[in-house]
Amino acid sequence: MSDNCVFCRIAAGAIPATIVAQNELALAFRDLYPQAPVHVLVIPRRHVASLAVADRGEEVAAVLALAAAVARAEGLEDKGYRVVTNVGDHGGQTVHHWHLHVLGGREMTWPPG
Ligand code: 5GP
Ligand code: ZN
Repeated sequence: MSDNCVFCRIAAGAIPATIVAQNELALAFRDLYPQAPVHVLVIPRRHVASLAVADRGEEVAAVLALAAAVARAEGLEDKGYRVVTNVGDHGGQTVHHWHLHVLGGREMTWPPG
């Protein structure tokens, strides 16, 4: 746990979040500033700065599996959805605790901005 990491604080229950799903290694909660009708963040419980340093296979699998489970539970499977992870400055990463964005409920555009 990193004291100055907002997602570590959410994982520890120190600051509130709307948690929608969890497993032993990962946690899913609603984004505070949703960019789509469904916008859920999926994080490893352990502090991992980004995908670039996510080196524990079991943990990576748990995060991905939880993202798919959230999409299913939110009713996104039929029409589809998008999963995004931003890495570093050019990726647009603003919170340096690895997370997947699960976005759905509207049609996405491509290429991303
Ligand atoms: P990034 O820009 O790093 O890919 O995504 C960070 C995401 O975290 C943003 O979509 C932002 O809205 C969300 N976020 C930032 N602070 C909080 C918070 O305190 N609670 C929640 N639920 N989401 C947050
Ligand atoms: Zn953290």
